[in-house]
Amino acid sequence: MATFQDILSTPCKLSTYAKDKNGYAKVYINGKRVYHHRVAYCAAHGLKLKDIEDSIIINMCGRHNCINPKHLARKVSTVSKIVTVTSEEVLRLNIEANKKAAIETARKNAKLIEDTREAMRLCRAAYMGARN
Ligand SMILES: [Zn+2]
Repeated sequence: MATFQDILSTPCKLSTYAKDKNGYAKVYINGKRVYHHRVAYCAAHGLKLKDIEDSIIINMCGRHNCINPKHLARKVSTVSKIVTVTSEEVLRLNIEANKKAAIETARKNAKLIEDTREAMRLCRAAYMGARN
């Protein structure tokens, strides 16, 4: 894996398209204004813009209008993708685990009672048999 320095050892390739107020270059594709660095990232990785809808493309060099694919990194958006385990969820999982353990114990106890009954029956049978 290339280091950060390796990646940035290639020079920036700045877009010649007009920048927006945040310094990002935008291009027109099928009548839609899209970020040039996103298009550049897709082109370099054989992707379509649709494929990176859930991701943000970071300019690692800090230049928002840089379109050198080696300076671009994809980061899946943390907003929609992060699955947070809340304390309620932990509680629910604990209850679930305890429930399973309780059922298991009850099952073992039932088996034990069954075994005891069976043992008593055999004893009784043996006792009765011994008497005859
Ligand atoms: Zn750059």
